[in-house]
Amino acid sequence: MSRVYNFSAGPAVLPEEVLQEAADEMLDYKGSGMSVMEMSHRSKVYQAIIDEAEADLRELMNIPDNYKVLFLQGGASQQFAMIPMNLMKNKKAAYIVTGQWAKKAYQEAKIFGDAVEVASSADKTFSYIPDCTDLDIPEDADYVYICENNTIYGTKYQTLPDTKGKILVSDVSSCFLSEPVDVTKYGVIYGGVQKNIGPAGVVIVIIREDLITEDTLPGTPTMLKYKTHADNGSMYNTPPCYGIYICGKVFQWIKKQGGLSAMKARNEEKAKILYDFLDQRELFKGTVRKEDRSLMNVPFVTGSEELDAKFVKEAKEAGFENLKGHRTVGGMRASIYNAMPKEGVEKLVEFMRKFEENNK
Ligand SMILES: *Cc1c(COP(=O)(O)O)cnc(C)c1O
Repeated sequence: MSRVYNFSAGPAVLPEEVLQEAADEMLDYKGSGMSVMEMSHRSKVYQAIIDEAEADLRELMNIPDNYKVLFLQGGASQQFAMIPMNLMKNKKAAYIVTGQWAKKAYQEAKIFGDAVEVASSADKTFSYIPDCTDLDIPEDADYVYICENNTIYGTKYQTLPDTKGKILVSDVSSCFLSEPVDVTKYGVIYGGVQKNIGPAGVVIVIIREDLITEDTLPGTPTMLKYKTHADNGSMYNTPPCYGIYICGKVFQWIKKQGGLSAMKARNEEKAKILYDFLDQRELFKGTVRKEDRSLMNVPFVTGSEELDAKFVKEAKEAGFENLKGHRTVGGMRASIYNAMPKEGVEKLVEFMRKFEENNK
């Protein structure tokens, strides 16, 4: 068996221990005589899996009792619609556009009401986070929406925007569980799990209880109401059972690593290796304003498309996969999520150093 260093933005690298454990339990989960994929979601044994996953996530993120944890489907993209359908009571919301995912959410919200762009970093290809200390937020806005870590552009909010008392809704898909978070500052935190937690097909929504109501926009389908899922413990219909099981294993893995403070320390250490290298070199350059850099997604360029392509090709041959930048940005991007070992980043930097020597 040989595993590569996988720098994919998502679906992305998972902890090897988790994959090994899942492999060991594949044919017979804890004496049940079947795989988790084959068992009823109404069985006791599965109920224990989802209950434990929720309890571990609550412990890791220190989620207060007045927040619900929902395991849903449809990816992060389905939340672009579910959020306005469930929360846009006044049919108005403020959106901060810091990249493609925020823009997609903003455009989707326009289907349902008056989505107002209150800040944007489009003027500089989303290479920074705009100043959000004094935004012009409409008096009757139902919420303020952000994408907290911009997977494609490699930026991250270092401080949350001043929402002027409005509910904050945050897409944390690509920074989920990468550092401690104060859940009480948000109305809704959500993310697709395929970036930092588990297999594609699960989206986790952490939502304050008072925001879960029957009062949704007219025509909202049953499956797209938070209340439907909250009232049924994420089991109104068959949940993405196997995906939730793997997420649960990753939660346990993070607990074993020492929780979110330990993850943050590790992530800072890893990111520093790469950013320090980028800051000192001639050939490779980071593309993001320093103070807004993400710990998870690190875009960089050589300045020559030809050299970029050569680098991606040679890196792949050397066992560093998925370093090509997003198709809209070009260049390279190294996604260094929780499960990327420090060794992977060190070896990448070593490889980049050699590449630079050979291509001066
Ligand atoms: C990947 C990503 C999405 C889209 O996720 P899907 O599950 O494919 O819908 C949305 N937001 C962010 C920040 C992402 O990184």
